[in-house]
Amino acid sequence: MSHTFDVPATRVVDRFLRYVRIDTTSAEDSPQFPSTPVQFDLARLLARELQELGLTDAAVDEHGYVFATLPSNLPPRTAKKIPVIAFIAHVDTYFGVSGKDVKPVVHCAYGGGDIPLPGDPAQTIRADENPELADFVGDDIITSDGTTLLGADDKAGVAEIMAAVEYLVQHPDIPRGTIKIAFTPDEEVGNGTKHFDVAKFGAAFAYTIDGGYPGEVENETFCADTAIIRFTGRDVHPGYAKGKMINAVRAAAYFAGLYSEESLPETTSDRQGYIHPYQIEGNVSDAKLTTLIRDFSVEGLEQFRDILNSYAAITQERFPGVGVNIEIKESYRNMIYKLQAEPRVMDYAIEAVQRAGLAPILKAIRGGTDGSRLSYMGLLTPNLFAGGMNFHSKQEWVAAGAMVKATETILHLVQIWRERSLDKH
Ligand SMILES: [Zn+2]
Repeated sequence: MSHTFDVPATRVVDRFLRYVRIDTTSAEDSPQFPSTPVQFDLARLLARELQELGLTDAAVDEHGYVFATLPSNLPPRTAKKIPVIAFIAHVDTYFGVSGKDVKPVVHCAYGGGDIPLPGDPAQTIRADENPELADFVGDDIITSDGTTLLGADDKAGVAEIMAAVEYLVQHPDIPRGTIKIAFTPDEEVGNGTKHFDVAKFGAAFAYTIDGGYPGEVENETFCADTAIIRFTGRDVHPGYAKGKMINAVRAAAYFAGLYSEESLPETTSDRQGYIHPYQIEGNVSDAKLTTLIRDFSVEGLEQFRDILNSYAAITQERFPGVGVNIEIKESYRNMIYKLQAEPRVMDYAIEAVQRAGLAPILKAIRGGTDGSRLSYMGLLTPNLFAGGMNFHSKQEWVAAGAMVKATETILHLVQIWRERSLDKH
């Protein structure tokens, strides 16, 4: 019943090698959207390639998003029973490391050990720092030449989605529901969903292909709030301040000093939350301390809020007369709260990974993702592996076999959604 897919590595690797050579570096604090116009170069190429594959509606919109539809090849009455599934990847690369003039290097049939990068003697991908390399002995490993990042984040995802589309187009005998494709700009600067019109896109469920190690399925993100803590003092000429001055600067510093050593970004990992005092400003009469609050549950956020309130009381006791006001702003929530409403989205992802011959690795992201934002915009979107490692660095690498597995996982997902949706009827 279930199909096995045989995607030749060259189909995905050749695309990947072409895409990484196109500079798509995004920029922080840019007044324009997308943050850099170069992102249009890859977007236009992808839209053209999708057109050539027969996805006639493929187009780049004014914001640099590529949207396309691969229609179902089933009779309309059957196709209607299958939810429209989408695959999403981002075209931009991390702004902190150059992504211009990327010269990808294919290390054929990796024999184990360190991988020196030819363009910079200081850059060697060390086997002891990259234990995952051992899993790819015999595979082709792709790196940059060491002078730039590689761009597997997320051009691996882009190439895998394109290769999956191509495979489906070339195998019309494989029945499928309607598939939507989106390639987005500015993910790295946190704006990938800014102009994403979920209703117009028309997908029921989606998957970003933007994770790391083969088999990874990410269905959790942090819950995130920002606490703005304002201190109100009383300014008096310092020469005559005895018994009168209330110094908001000292109150804010005292407050920040109360934060537990065990609950900071620099002391937590995995599933632990944190409070992060990351900005402080002000003067004697008014001071402001901005604190990020992160946890995987809303209950955890509430506990941190209670802790901040207790710090306020302690500070007011220490500085009689000081005003302490805490304002909490919601940033985003763990996408698992949304995903729980539709278990098929994750169940099928896990099954697809297994059908691709991999062990599913469920992961929680210590941050937010475009997928979590989309999930709260009404499009449930967990994140699947794209295969790349060492994201955002000159030592980024990806194995050809990992990209093939990601492509096959996409194909299995298409298959599973079709099978399960028709089983029921
Ligand atoms: Zn990414």
